[in-house]
Amino acid sequence: MTEFRLSAARPGSGIRTTLRNARIVGSDGTPVDIEIEDARISTIRPAHVSPAQGEPVDLAGRWVLPGLWDHHVHFSQVALASRRLDLASSSSAASVVELVRAHSARSSAEPGDILVGTGFRDALWPDSPDLAALDRASEGRPVVLIGADLHCVWLNGAALERFGHAGHPTGMLREEDAFAVSKALDTDDALVDAWAREAAGVAAARGVVGIGDFEMAWNLDAWKRRTAAGATSLRVRFGIYPADLDRALAQRLSTGQIVPHTHGLVEVGALKVITDGSLNTRSAYCDDDYDGLTGRPDARGVLTVPTDELVFLMRRAMTGGLSSAIHAIGDRANTLALDAFAATGAAGSIEHAQLLRDDDIARFAELGVIASVQPEHAMDDRDAAEQLWPGRTRRAFPLRSLLDAGATLRLGSDAPVAPLDPWIAISAAVGRSRENRAPWHPEQSITVSEALAAATRTPHERVAARRLADLAIVDADPLASTADQLRRMPVAATVLNGRFTHSVL
Ligand SMILES: [Zn+2]
Repeated sequence: MTEFRLSAARPGSGIRTTLRNARIVGSDGTPVDIEIEDARISTIRPAHVSPAQGEPVDLAGRWVLPGLWDHHVHFSQVALASRRLDLASSSSAASVVELVRAHSARSSAEPGDILVGTGFRDALWPDSPDLAALDRASEGRPVVLIGADLHCVWLNGAALERFGHAGHPTGMLREEDAFAVSKALDTDDALVDAWAREAAGVAAARGVVGIGDFEMAWNLDAWKRRTAAGATSLRVRFGIYPADLDRALAQRLSTGQIVPHTHGLVEVGALKVITDGSLNTRSAYCDDDYDGLTGRPDARGVLTVPTDELVFLMRRAMTGGLSSAIHAIGDRANTLALDAFAATGAAGSIEHAQLLRDDDIARFAELGVIASVQPEHAMDDRDAAEQLWPGRTRRAFPLRSLLDAGATLRLGSDAPVAPLDPWIAISAAVGRSRENRAPWHPEQSITVSEALAAATRTPHERVAARRLADLAIVDADPLASTADQLRRMPVAATVLNGRFTHSVL
């Protein structure tokens, strides 16, 4: 893992605040005053023993912890999702069609405008996608419906024609075809930037100070533009996709570098390579056949980047000092990704690591590969996993086993796949349950402090003197909260670089 360079602390920015009557999460709960000078904590002392420096803010005994990170998001998609037809409540192809029909009936859009929906999960649909029914529901308007995991899109006839797939029998496109359609939808930069700024504020209101942005785009320019326009409520570590690797190397981007003129907030992340699909799309690359697919060439899912090509890309990234973030969901894809880390000696992470072979778990720590996981996917997908990975789910989302084997965990949401809210990820990691269901493989639960450590910038963040003042301030002690309480944790304020990015104090 790269060290954080502290160009973020701008001497003389003049911020001076004292957070009075604070309780630090993990301490014995004795109230303290936390003095912040510029972007850092200068001192912490028992409450009220000396006059407050600068502007005092009374926390009235609220709890303070290091600011939270969501280590895996697709941020433009988060911004866009807030403006799209929400299909999360659907449970069949027919119910998706019904939502489209209801929306079209009350919509005043022009006939040529694309209706974009998002959030359906087709893995457990009892019916098949019916293109003719979708066409009837949409009254001639092009319709593009993006699956919750982003790995499939369902298009109606008008959209199939527009995107070069006329004559497709169902309109359901997967993997690269799906990504190409999603990308082609990209709205005007200025509009997305404005929505992104709003979405950053929404994230800050949940205690978030930083994100790992894996938007499938050239993220450097987007975040330069956004921070210059005043989107300064989040730190951003952005990923680079293979299509842009040459460009990144030519610009001498290396992992951990702070991008100039971004208020110290934007940092170069890793080369991101997607090597397999997803569980719901039955494209995650596995050791065993998916139920019902036996005999087909894709019966075990798909490996979208062969291992020799992956090794080539990772080596090339290393020449410029870029680490690697490898998307691998199925157990076979994870084995091959770990093999590539072993072959190259690259630093980095495996993104998702959803299904792991027992003998691969120890390799994360051995190779220094971070397991970057999204615990809420386990809650969304537990039924799909039981059906599609039968008899294997004790190896699915094995967070406890990874930690016990010495791996470093990072938590994320993969937003907009799951909400950009670390408290949801923390709750799922701790309780492995939602909506009063029995916990799913509770033997793989981790503790609240382990989850918090994985939901901050590094596992070693602390609220202490000389540390950066990136803080979340919450109403309850997370260490004494149940999984349900964690999920709904009230966040009173968020501090980034010593300034409030959110406050209801
Ligand atoms: Zn993702």
